[in-house]
Amino acid sequence: MTPRETAAQERRIRAIIKKWRTPAGMTEWFMKTQYTPGPIDIDGKPDPEVAALTSTDWEYRQTVIKFNLDMMARCTDDEAERIVLHEFCHVLVNEMHEGSEERVVTTLSFIFQWIRDAAKAGKI
Ligand SMILES: [Zn+2]
Repeated sequence: MTPRETAAQERRIRAIIKKWRTPAGMTEWFMKTQYTPGPIDIDGKPDPEVAALTSTDWEYRQTVIKFNLDMMARCTDDEAERIVLHEFCHVLVNEMHEGSEERVVTTLSFIFQWIRDAAKAGKI
């Protein structure tokens, strides 16, 4: 990925975050983003299957979201948006720390997009 492509992907992700930060209830969080050109390290090993990863301290409302720019570049705009929303949902439910978190987060990601589509269609 060229520096120009890297910058374009970072801009694309920042635009999605800006669009959704308020409606997704993320304005009260201290959020940092990190961008890696390739796989994100998980437990010290690069994982090529992970597009984004969130590390959250819910007690202090702090989160860091890392993005694998190579994977994000291969996503459609809709997929990229769903990944950002998926990570936001992880932040929002972080204090649950129960076995069902992944399923709930996936469902919530779709719900946000259904809300977007309904709003676009003038249904809400
Ligand atoms: Zn997840």
